[in-house]
Amino acid sequence: DLELGGKAAIVTGAASGIGRAIALVLSREGADLVLADLDAAGCERTLALMRAERADARGVVVRADASRYDDHEATVNAALDEYGGLDIAVNNAGIGGEPKITGELGPEAWRRVIDVNLNGVYYAMHAQLPALLARGGGAIVNIASILGQAGWRTASAYVASKHGVVGLTKTAALEYATRGIRINAVGPGFIETPILGDDPEALAQLAALHPVGRLGQPQEVGDLVAWLSSARASLVTGAYYPVDGGYLAQ
Ligand code: NAD
Repeated sequence: DLELGGKAAIVTGAASGIGRAIALVLSREGADLVLADLDAAGCERTLALMRAERADARGVVVRADASRYDDHEATVNAALDEYGGLDIAVNNAGIGGEPKITGELGPEAWRRVIDVNLNGVYYAMHAQLPALLARGGGAIVNIASILGQAGWRTASAYVASKHGVVGLTKTAALEYATRGIRINAVGPGFIETPILGDDPEALAQLAALHPVGRLGQPQEVGDLVAWLSSARASLVTGAYYPVDGGYLAQ
């Protein structure tokens, strides 16, 4: 038991994949959720799944674009209005971008990935930190990637955005370490979600890149995030945790 009862948690990108799994694990552990995503209908589905597991699960849906600062303010305000404060924030919303080599990727495509994946995490934290301070502390978990530590041909914007998230996480962790806010990054390997597409051959090739010989499941990321969000991880801050079936050990 991670004792998250009564804790208020934001999850961005909560309509699908890893974000949905994180919301489900946090709710299972007792947390009250703010489910933020561009896809509000997907968040409603996540909320229905939470309630199917636990009849008294609490969640509120906010339609929010991670690349817009004001939308993060609205998301934090939803936590304040609904739950009276904020204890946990999981910044997970992200996009893969166009698969093109660097010299062929246009500036607009570059900017969109950086706007959502990197600027979005900065905007989120800027909006969340005052609310966490007001509560006397809390935890932020930013979803990076194995590609926050290694390169990948045809994904320079994505790789740069995720390396940026790791650097932002480390720096903010240093800044807030004495003020009760722990800030960590999680680096999933390839996880079976819609972001990977549905070509079975391509999925099998990705699976084979991992020493465990399979793709990860969203819940396996959710379990790590829930632990990092809880007081059980009280000494853990400024860390990057892979959850990647051994990918980065190669
Ligand atoms: P997904 O596509 O299943 O879910 C992403 C969610 O983010 C969707 O619900 C989508 O609507 C939302 N979203 C996209 N752009 C948004 C925006 N501008 N504002 C708000 N919401 C937005 O993908 P996923 O695999 O669950 O990815 C979640 C996170 O995990 C991403 O940050 C991704 O980079 C990261 N990640 C995924 C993998 C993987 O293999 N699946 C690996 C490493 C890291």
